[in-house]
Amino acid sequence: CKLSLATLQQAAAKVAIPAYDRKSLSAGIVHFGVGNFHRAHQAIYLDDLFNTGEAHDWAIIGAGVLPSDAAMREKLAAQDFLTTVVEQDNNRTAARVTAPMIDILPVGDARAIIAKLADPTIRIVSMTITEGGYFIDASGKFNPAHPAIVADGQNPDAPKTVFGLIVAGLKARRAAGLPPFTVMSCDNIPHNGGVTKAAVVGTAKLSDPAFADWIAANVAFPNGMVDRITPATGAREIDLLKDVFDIEDNWPVYCEEFKQWVLEDNFPAGRPPLEKVGVTFVPDVTPYEHMKIRILNGGHAAIAYPAALMDIHFVHEAMEEPLIRAFLAKLENDEIIPVIPPVPNTVLADYFKLIEHRFANPKIADTIPRLAQDGSNRQPKFILPSTADRLRRGEDIVGLSLVSALWCRYFAGKSDSGKEIVFNDASADRLHEAALKAKDDPNAFLVFDDIFGDVAKSDLFRKRFAHALKTLWEKGTRVTLQLYLDNKL
Ligand code: NAD
Repeated sequence: CKLSLATLQQAAAKVAIPAYDRKSLSAGIVHFGVGNFHRAHQAIYLDDLFNTGEAHDWAIIGAGVLPSDAAMREKLAAQDFLTTVVEQDNNRTAARVTAPMIDILPVGDARAIIAKLADPTIRIVSMTITEGGYFIDASGKFNPAHPAIVADGQNPDAPKTVFGLIVAGLKARRAAGLPPFTVMSCDNIPHNGGVTKAAVVGTAKLSDPAFADWIAANVAFPNGMVDRITPATGAREIDLLKDVFDIEDNWPVYCEEFKQWVLEDNFPAGRPPLEKVGVTFVPDVTPYEHMKIRILNGGHAAIAYPAALMDIHFVHEAMEEPLIRAFLAKLENDEIIPVIPPVPNTVLADYFKLIEHRFANPKIADTIPRLAQDGSNRQPKFILPSTADRLRRGEDIVGLSLVSALWCRYFAGKSDSGKEIVFNDASADRLHEAALKAKDDPNAFLVFDDIFGDVAKSDLFRKRFAHALKTLWEKGTRVTLQLYLDNKL
């Protein structure tokens, strides 16, 4: 049946449906970036909470700033903002219709978005706008000279970025004598709260420095660590839902069964009691972030490129290739895990075993092209900080430099068998050009200060990178991985 509130009971024959009445919900959160991850993570925790009969005044209103958000709004509006989420363990599949989102604001209508942000019932503004959405450079600093931010600084009443809209919303609340909302990033960025704060305060500074100071002193930006592997949706997923569960959903979400959310408990305007549905509240999220970003996201960023060079399409297929599985394990155990500070109640080796299991899940059909995209934003956040830490400690970086070399070799544009590689990266042109030059002159790839930062200044890194890249060109990916595994690279 076609998914809608009217057909929910019909859907209940094959999938779980909300235990709450949608009419009982009222908005408490505005969320920017209604992509797949939000619907598989934050929305699921809220759906679980609403199912207990509690906190029904914390429903989500979606928002967005990109044309793709307008398309998503149309798709979800046609089904009363319901989303089917298919959760898949290595040998179990369960589908559920979720209903914690009650509306999506008109994309591009700054006036409507600011009015909602100024509504006293809204106490949290959250976001999943990708790593690239924060206007930050390699050093992690906000870039106020970005044209979109400059434009919002010049037109603070008609902003177009998420940060300009948040500033305008906070200003409207202050003018109305309302307390500010809490701003909660759910993107995969170390210290996502701090990064978001820098973006909001930095944007405000361009039009009203005094108000920027007020935001810095009065608005809470809790840091959080989020985790649930959620691939992109394609025609395959839409068809599968119809065939297996008899539901026509315009944009369902498929994800793994595992999920984790660790949040700093810094919500002066109040928050839903998410601890009742498995969210861990901690005073400092840093150790959890380190663990997740470096072991999981770093792991993804490490296997993506050898797999692409070996013409492997799915992530679980990469994990079935002994060379890649062993490469990941050696890299994590020898170089990544040893420089991660201790994490409360967690054995890092066990955490990595769980990651291996999750990566090997054949059901979620996560793809190597998805992991390989956006490396210009991901390598500096997921891989190069481990490299930098080891260099600071005077420790070797054979494996991590090999990751950088594999990334460079990938950007030359052809796999080992000669298959064309399709890039999906805002910096693809400059990386491709540099990767071609790097075949003869490895340093040509290390010129990007915004990506490599201080790591490229290390002689040891340059030497290891050059040797790994030369080996990749001369001997191919398989042999290079084997040499690394044999400690002969
Ligand atoms: P998606 O492509 O389904 O959705 C991305 C969303 O971000 C869209 O709503 C898009 O409009 C918005 N967006 C992109 N660039 C933007 C910009 N410059 N300004 C404003 N909005 C922008 O992707 P997704 O799977 O939902 O992932 C989104 C983010 O969630 C990731 O980048 C990551 O930080 C986080 N995350 C994802 C996963 C996962 O497995 N997919 C896991 C953990 C965390």
